[in-house]
Amino acid sequence: MNNMLKKTDVILIGAGVMSATLGTLLKELAPEWEIKVFEKLANAGEESSNEWNNAGTGHAALCELNYTPEKSDGTINISKAIKINEQFQISRQFWSYLVSSNLIRNPQDFIRPIPHMSLVQGEKNVEFLKKRFEVLSSNPLFQGMEYSEDPEKLMEWIPLIMEGRTSSEPIAATKIDSGTDVNFGALTRILFDHLKSKNVEINYKHSVEDIKRTSDGLWELKVRNVDNGHVERHAAKFVFIGAGGGSLPLLQKTGIPESKHIGGFPVSGLFMVCKNPEVVEQHHAKVYGKAKVGAPPMSVPHLDTRYIDNKKSLLFGPFAGFSPKFLKNGSNFDLIRSIKLNNVLTMLAAGIKEMKLTKYLIQQVLLSNEKRMEELREFVPTAKSEDWDIVVAGQRVQVIKDTETGGKGTLQFGTEVICSADGSVAALLGASPGASTAVHVMLEVIEKCFQQHLKEWEPKIKEMIPSYGVSLVENPDLFQEIQASTAQTLGLSKKELVYS
Ligand SMILES: Cc1cc2nc3c(=O)[nH]c(=O)nc-3n(C[C@H](O)[C@H](O)[C@H](O)COP(=O)(O)OP(=O)(O)OC[C@H]3O[C@@H](n4cnc5c(N)ncnc54)[C@H](O)[C@@H]3O)c2cc1C
Repeated sequence: MNNMLKKTDVILIGAGVMSATLGTLLKELAPEWEIKVFEKLANAGEESSNEWNNAGTGHAALCELNYTPEKSDGTINISKAIKINEQFQISRQFWSYLVSSNLIRNPQDFIRPIPHMSLVQGEKNVEFLKKRFEVLSSNPLFQGMEYSEDPEKLMEWIPLIMEGRTSSEPIAATKIDSGTDVNFGALTRILFDHLKSKNVEINYKHSVEDIKRTSDGLWELKVRNVDNGHVERHAAKFVFIGAGGGSLPLLQKTGIPESKHIGGFPVSGLFMVCKNPEVVEQHHAKVYGKAKVGAPPMSVPHLDTRYIDNKKSLLFGPFAGFSPKFLKNGSNFDLIRSIKLNNVLTMLAAGIKEMKLTKYLIQQVLLSNEKRMEELREFVPTAKSEDWDIVVAGQRVQVIKDTETGGKGTLQFGTEVICSADGSVAALLGASPGASTAVHVMLEVIEKCFQQHLKEWEPKIKEMIPSYGVSLVENPDLFQEIQASTAQTLGLSKKELVYS
């Protein structure tokens, strides 16, 4: 054990897209601050942020039907869709700033344009989609959205999905060309390379095992070198727990009051991937369907064109499942170890409330490959088993907490920033809408934890994110300007891109 306590300004735990984003923002705002990163795996972006562990959708609510629920009076509530779209515009602006400042050289390394589509079948669903289209397409944030029930038009948009379709049920789709496919793994690695060039100390194969408060108000971390087992002690004025599924156990170790009465519900995922160029070439979109009755929002089926390592492939899924691990590289004891005296009632209440969900997830785990192929054939009627392989996706740990509306042990599907009252430690829990809104969420961390610097930092934040603090839906001209300029900088306006 190395007993020398090494002190620094900021420690980021975990080398995923969240720490990468926060580190990059802080390096722009306070370049003189010393930042250290501890990551237990050998590289950055190996857990949920990895390109094969998530769907790579730039979530801007252009196609995800769960962001636009139908109200009891039959009208469509688009408030969540507006919020998520605005949050994605913040990411686009920050990434554009990084490209314009030469901190990212080639945006195509992590972001590509791809139409986002919603597809439904059955009379009631078609009626829902039409109403949704009417309300969204008249909103400035969703301009350019098209709708069709015409099989010929649909054949033109999604030949792979329409070919061999025998059902006589009505079918409809919406399409918007301003969607994106984002390689969050590549983005994470690019940002960590940049941070390294700015002298940020990045320690891979270093696992954080404990966090406690020191008498002089710092946070002291017990860090184990995974290779040789040596323990080091590091301290910082500010610690960000960006450990993905591993954040909840570390937050619990801080002992801050804000960490109590919170639990985690792990949901695993599988995708089916097709690399057969003949099949891949027949599809060019991210097509989101409707979740099955009883299925959680994160298991909405979708068929996506992906660009990974400059190659095109198709991804279908996710098939959600249950696993007690909090990280893909985690332990089967993660869930049980996260149950503490202060959250046991919350967890039990959730267990009772979410019996149906648990049953659904277990059924999903038990699906045979042929059953998964049957689900895929609801999307791609001509799909052949030999063209599709299984890939294990990342783990999502959904937050369980007591809420006023849901009562004890309510499962949350969004992300939550948990901060100590003095802003010296923050953790990110939850996984949706996820990496797409990383910049918005990390700005929330900055606003909550660095209030004393905000006035001084605001001009720089506005330089990086021109719409900072402004509602885009209420300022359509600014939205148009930002949409056009970020599309240009990020190479999203070019229609014809060449892929090897
Ligand atoms: C199946 C699936 C599909 C998804 N699809 C999308 C999508 O289409 N679009 C989208 O925007 N988002 C999507 N997401 C969500 C998105 O992937 C996550 O929100 C995002 O990657 C989380 O980033 P992170 O940095 O918080 O966590 P991670 O990327 O998981 O990084 C956390 C890091 O912390 C490290 N770590 C953990 N514990 C410790 C410790 N004790 N000490 C040191 N290091 C530690 C881990 O090894 C890991 O590298 C999806 C997620 C899943 C699972």
